Amino acid sequence: THFGFSQIPRSEKVRRVGQVFSSVAQRYDVMNDLMSFGLHRLWKRFAVELAHIRPGQSVLDLAGGTGDLTRLITPLIGEKGRVVLGDINGAMLEVGRERLLNEGIVVDVIQLNAENLPFANNSFDLITIAFGLRNVTDKEAALASMYRVLKPGGRLIILEFSQVYLPPLKPIYDLYSFRILPLMGKLVAKDEDSYRYLAESIRMHPDQETLKNMLIDVGFERCDYHNVDGGIVAVHRGFKL
Ligand code: SAM
Repeated sequence: THFGFSQIPRSEKVRRVGQVFSSVAQRYDVMNDLMSFGLHRLWKRFAVELAHIRPGQSVLDLAGGTGDLTRLITPLIGEKGRVVLGDINGAMLEVGRERLLNEGIVVDVIQLNAENLPFANNSFDLITIAFGLRNVTDKEAALASMYRVLKPGGRLIILEFSQVYLPPLKPIYDLYSFRILPLMGKLVAKDEDSYRYLAESIRMHPDQETLKNMLIDVGFERCDYHNVDGGIVAVHRGFKL
């Protein structure tokens, strides 16, 4: 395609994803609010609601970046609970750790690759991954790795951009994401390419049913998904039983 991110080799995708998030890390939070009109906050709340977190649980917020989900999860797990904020990108984690510390939230921060999680089998009650799976090169490996480190009875929650299914919304959404978003990226973040990557990576991401089947393929059970805002985002759920 003219965006040039499609058929790229693995090492190249890894490099570019790294570059994108290192270059946006400092402005990441502001840009999220701006570009989603604040909606990402509601989407994240909804995802955490579907996680049905109970006190004492151990949670991995994977591809957690600057820690938005971690911040919502922490008050729900209580004194005995544990949240690990894990991400492949040191710059994002640094911004996240700093921001959480400023709010008095102390969590374990670990730099890791979702494709090969550095945890023992059966470690977590819950894994959340918000707007992260799309950026992972080998999604099957990542999902299998998540399945492995979840405890039996554990739950996976994936919040991700998905395929818009409402016909009237489609042209508006396309115009917004392919034209306006990169322009805003250029003006506000001085980084057109990163926001072009965003639009492109959303189009390439598996649709709702495909992602659900990918979960089933690595062993997850009782898989389902909830569309939000016409499919702009979807929350997938799966259980390790
Ligand atoms: N979860 C946060 C949120 O919702 O605001 C951050 C989402 S951000 C769009 C995507 C994150 O995925 C980035 O911080 C990036 O570094 C991380 N990421 C990309 N590939 C990864 C991988 N293979 N393993 C772990 N994290 C990864």
